[in-house]
Amino acid sequence: TLTGKTALVTGSTSGIGLAYAKAFAAQGANVVINGFGDAAAIETERQGLEATSGAKAIYSGHDLTKVDEIEGMMRQAAEAFGGVDILVNNAGVQHVAPVEDFPVDKWNLIIALNLTAAFHTTRLAVPHMKEKKWGRIIQTASAHSLVASPFKSAYVTAKHGLAGFTKTIALELATFGVTANCISPGYVWTPLVEGQIPDTMKARGLTREQVINDVLLESQPTKQFVTPEQVAGIALFLCSDAAVNITGANISVDGGWTAG
Ligand code: NAD
Repeated sequence: TLTGKTALVTGSTSGIGLAYAKAFAAQGANVVINGFGDAAAIETERQGLEATSGAKAIYSGHDLTKVDEIEGMMRQAAEAFGGVDILVNNAGVQHVAPVEDFPVDKWNLIIALNLTAAFHTTRLAVPHMKEKKWGRIIQTASAHSLVASPFKSAYVTAKHGLAGFTKTIALELATFGVTANCISPGYVWTPLVEGQIPDTMKARGLTREQVINDVLLESQPTKQFVTPEQVAGIALFLCSDAAVNITGANISVDGGWTAG
């Protein structure tokens, strides 16, 4: 179990992040959830996590595109729990456009949230992990940390960067009981995927059904979306004793996408 441990999951008011938070709570961990959304809905989820874990769950609404806000979130976690034992860098956004039309503000947002935020949370979490001689850093990377798709220049760049960052910190932390790994899902059915369907329709001139079957599931040999719970299951495994020697790895959960 993860009783006595504290897990912080960025971008956990929705989708994959919420599934991680629920999985950690089910193992008895304290949980810090983060992200945006309807305040009442978030409070309901927070209470649900405490009911599941029998431990504490707190909410941070900090905007992780800003370094002072990231510092605020990490301070909030340290004040509540003394530090973060399991750090999951999961918050991320997508934008789909040809490179020559790619909005500069979207590029900057995606690099800040999907890549730079993980550097800041990591540098702030690592001293506590080293002191405890135990820590788990888990990134929600993507199949796009390994291969590219057209019209996703910022996202593919950020996720490849995240994969390189993770290998680097895995080497730095290898003798401190701290592992760092990427989980790389293919297409997971979440609001992020649903939200990019209209833009992909526009960029490629396709119908909704064509985007789902010919673009999204085209890449996934199993012809099935990955579930958020399947991604969270890998994170729990990485926190288990069986996984102490898994570090610097990039674990695909993509229905065979990157095998092809
Ligand atoms: P989602 O849209 O359901 O959730 C994104 C979360 O990030 C939400 O909680 C949102 O509030 C939060 N967020 C957005 N902007 C933020 C900000 N500035 N500061 C703090 N939080 C912010 O998306 P998801 O599909 O669950 O994606 C989660 C992660 O998984 C992302 O990193 C994404 O790139 C990755 N991923 C998703 C898929 C997929 O198919 N859904 C595949 C591979 C990787």
